Amino acid sequence: MSVSQPLRELISNCSLPANEARILLAHLLEKHYQLPRSALLSRDDMSLNEQAFQEWENLVTRRVNGEPIAYILGKKGFHNIELQVGPGVLIPRPETELLVDIALNEIAKLNKPPRVLDLGTGSGAIALSIANASPLASVVATDQSAEALAIAIKNAKSLNLTKQAQFLQGSWYEALIQQSQFDVIVSNPPYIPNQDPHLSQGDLRFEPSSALTDYGSGLSCLQAIISGADKFLKPGGLIAVEHGFDQSESVVDLMKITGLIDVQAHLDLAGHCRVASGRKRP
Ligand code: GLN
Repeated sequence: MSVSQPLRELISNCSLPANEARILLAHLLEKHYQLPRSALLSRDDMSLNEQAFQEWENLVTRRVNGEPIAYILGKKGFHNIELQVGPGVLIPRPETELLVDIALNEIAKLNKPPRVLDLGTGSGAIALSIANASPLASVVATDQSAEALAIAIKNAKSLNLTKQAQFLQGSWYEALIQQSQFDVIVSNPPYIPNQDPHLSQGDLRFEPSSALTDYGSGLSCLQAIISGADKFLKPGGLIAVEHGFDQSESVVDLMKITGLIDVQAHLDLAGHCRVASGRKRP
């Protein structure tokens, strides 16, 4: 029994912005009818069956209540891969692709199979997109959250990257054996200061606070990662970290104080310095 209005009316009568309504509806068309997104146009007179219509109403309510689209769909595209995501992990952001590209650029210059470390891997976004783009790379990824690691491992399995990526539980470098050394260390740690009003707005309200803020000035995790890097970098190895749009100067200073050389601030597509990198002396 068809109970809904035609698709075009579901979209135009929906309380959500049309682009969001289309994303949710495309998801349901794929799930219930194995139809591609283009069916939103080519079959716009189609009605949803009772089960799909109930789910539509449920998804719209969740979104109206502010839940991020990525959690509602259970997935998010990042770099060249798709990751499963849920409330236990940060939703990967497009800004973070800059960090992946910096790591890949460095990897391309190495003449032996690179060893890469991703600290605070969350969904595995950075580690897995590097492993995916660079089949010779071996990647170690750590996170202190067991829930996050379970999601990252699930992603590694569905992307067929379990041979290349290893996941360890612990805070920053804690889980590594002492002698491990890497060509590249990357991290997108929690860097939002605890007083920042953004933490109680938009998608961030639904994401794990431990993935967003250091519960302090915003710089403490960055500092721990930068100051611990020397021991785990090969001579000449590169560390690159993401930070907030107003933290570039502080992070560059932290890298210089630690004795890293060739310290650079990197601009994202929006023109903000969002990544800093430095190198261990050769
Ligand atoms: N590395 C993951 C990402 O960039 C998680 C980061 C985090 O939880 N702060 O998406």
